[in-house]
Amino acid sequence: MLELVGVSHVYANGTRALDEVSLSIPRGMYGLLGPNGAGKSTLMRTIATLQTPTAGSIRFGDIDVIAQPDRLRQTLGYLPQDFGVYPRISAEAMLDHMAALKGIVSASDRRDTVESLLNQVNLWSVRKKALAGFSGGMRQRFGIAQALIGNPKLIIVDEPTAGLDPEERNRFLNLLAEIGETVVVILSTHIVEDVADLCPRMAVLAGGRVQLEGAPHELIKSTRSRVWTRPIDRAELADFRASFDVISTRLMGGQTVVHVLSDCDPGKGFKAAEGDLEDVYFATLASARRAA
Ligand code: ADP
Ligand code: MG
Repeated sequence: MLELVGVSHVYANGTRALDEVSLSIPRGMYGLLGPNGAGKSTLMRTIATLQTPTAGSIRFGDIDVIAQPDRLRQTLGYLPQDFGVYPRISAEAMLDHMAALKGIVSASDRRDTVESLLNQVNLWSVRKKALAGFSGGMRQRFGIAQALIGNPKLIIVDEPTAGLDPEERNRFLNLLAEIGETVVVILSTHIVEDVADLCPRMAVLAGGRVQLEGAPHELIKSTRSRVWTRPIDRAELADFRASFDVISTRLMGGQTVVHVLSDCDPGKGFKAAEGDLEDVYFATLASARRAA
C-alpha cells in the first residue's frame, strides 16, 4: 500500500536524519521502533507531506506522495508527537471545528461525524468537558478522533503511548488495533511492547536507517538461538561487558540479569534465553552501534 524507496533527509544544519529508507508497508498496524533521535518523527512528517525529503520516492496506492501532497492529505489522518492543542473549549466543539477545517461543510454531517468519533474513542460522556482538563490518555484518544475525521486510509501516530499510564496505554492500543484492521496505521514508538502486542509487521529504525524489517514472531525466531542469559553480581558487569557481547542488562527481583549475543553456547553458566522482541531490538541496536 505505502512504498518508500531510498528516502533520505538532510536538515539544513547537516544532520542526516534519514538515510536511504526503503519500506513496503501493507494494510494493518505497522510498528516503527527506534530510540530517540532515530529519525522516526522526520519519517512520519515526511510521509504526512509536512516536509519534502532530500531524496527518494513515496507512493501510497496510486498517489505519488511527493508530487501530489494534496491528494495524500485528503486520505491522511495524523497524530503528531507533540499535538499540543488543549484549549479551554470542549472536545465536542473542537472536533466540530476540526471537521469543518477538513471540509465537512454541512452542520448536520459534522454533528453525525463528531458523535460517532466521540463514541468510537470513548469520550462521549466527557464531550462537554474542556480539553485543557483532559488526562494524557483522554488527550491521545481525542488526538485519534481528530485524525479519523473524513475516514482516512492512511493513519500516522507518532509516539502516542509516551507518558500514558498502563491502563490508558492499553485502552489506546486497543482502539488503534480496531482501526488498524481496514487501513494502514503506522505507529512509531520507542517502547518494544507497543509493537510486540499489536503489529503484524515492523521495522527498527536507528541512525536514520532501517536496521531490520519483518514480522515480530519471525524476527524473534531468527534471534532465539543466539541469545544467552544468566544472573550476575552487579560488580561483575564490567568484566562481562569486556568478555561478551552484552546486548542488555535487566534488573529482576533486585538481581542483574545479562543477555548476550553468541552464535554458540558461551559456557560460564549461561543458559539459552527464551528470546523475545526486546532481545531482537537490543541486538539490532547493538550491531547498528558497532557498524556506526
Ligand atoms: P525521533 O523522532 O526518532 O526521535 P527525529 O526525527 O526527531 O527522531 O530526529 C532525527 C535526527 O534529526 C536527530 O538527530 C534530531 O536532532 C535531528 N533533527 C530533527 N529535527 C531537526 C530539525 N528541524 N533541524 C535539524 N535537525 C533536526
Ligand atoms: Mg520523535
